[in-house]
Amino acid sequence: MHFETLAIHDGQTPDPVTGAVSVPVYQSSTFGRESLDSRPDFFYSRIGNPTRSALESTLALLENGRHGLAFASGVAAMTAALQVLKPGDHIVTGRDVYGGSYRIFEQLMRPWGVETSYTDSEATDSYAKYIRPNTKMIWLETPSNPLLQITDIQAISDLAHERGIIVAVDNTFLSPFFQRPLELGADIVVHSTTKYLGGHSDVIGGAVVTSDDRLHHTIRMYQGAAGAIPGPWDCWLVLRGLKTLKIRMKEHEATAFHLARALESHPAIARVLYPGLESHPQHKLAKSQMKGFGGMLTIALKDGLPAVQKLLEGTKLFVLADSLGGVESLISSPAKMTLGALSEQERQLRGCTEDLVRLSIGLENAEDLETDLMNALATI
Ligand SMILES: *Cc1c(COP(=O)(O)O)cnc(C)c1O
Repeated sequence: MHFETLAIHDGQTPDPVTGAVSVPVYQSSTFGRESLDSRPDFFYSRIGNPTRSALESTLALLENGRHGLAFASGVAAMTAALQVLKPGDHIVTGRDVYGGSYRIFEQLMRPWGVETSYTDSEATDSYAKYIRPNTKMIWLETPSNPLLQITDIQAISDLAHERGIIVAVDNTFLSPFFQRPLELGADIVVHSTTKYLGGHSDVIGGAVVTSDDRLHHTIRMYQGAAGAIPGPWDCWLVLRGLKTLKIRMKEHEATAFHLARALESHPAIARVLYPGLESHPQHKLAKSQMKGFGGMLTIALKDGLPAVQKLLEGTKLFVLADSLGGVESLISSPAKMTLGALSEQERQLRGCTEDLVRLSIGLENAEDLETDLMNALATI
């Protein structure tokens, strides 16, 4: 079956008791047992809840994986995925990794005894260079944030599997509609469902999907034991988001493409980073591993931070805010906002300069968004 059909039907058959076509919100902490010997599917909602279960099976299907697990946030999902490691293990990841991921690597994993190395670039060779005998995981975010660089998931997976290394991919920026890392050889996919999967800026959530029974078992055990689970309402919101994922992603992409082209020739702009543009350094790779280019774009302004400030405060439709992937367009300064906690040196190393502006393109009319940006750019 096709993606949009799975998103609407699978894991979500009408409720067996009432026939409700929308999966009910099972707002119950516990479930009565028929007898002492009965082994019900659901008995306590930290371990399993029917609304969460519907979400977990739909997430697995959309990523073409065997097992899905839902979490209270994207970072909770990531932390759970990292439980397949143990002290003494080593991770290799890209230099342009999400700020929250960097914090987990440096402030949670490192003190626990797992070190992380950061590549010099998105190239496969750069990942190979940092592999050590104790490397147990390669953590990929492609497209990266905020530079939207692309890493070759298939090539990295081949390289990793020869050495018994697990490949995990944070697929938040594209969603499974545009990229399915498990089909490209990855072992684990992680999402912040807060972003495109929920899609309406009204819920915080995360997900882990894998087809590997052993990895799933470890992460599932951690989910139940540590308990960073989403409540039934939040699961329901993400389920509702998933039903329209295809049409939203297509529209986010079409508008992002329109704006990327319109901005490319603007005199105040030094660079437009969007994987769909021919000028993007990994455009060919993006085209081959992704089914679409997504709704995020980053621009660099010629006049640096003063210009960034004017643009950020000058837009009327684009809201100055963190996050991404919702129906409303957002604008942000990665250097000052999402990566604001890093030192100047850390930011320079990862190429996150102050002249960058990140745009999350929403579902408003493309021409209205273009006018809003052009008006704000005219004030620079
Ligand atoms: C937002 C985000 C996360 C973290 O997700 P939360 O839901 O905020 O915990 C992880 N990875 C990427 C790429 C993100 O954009």
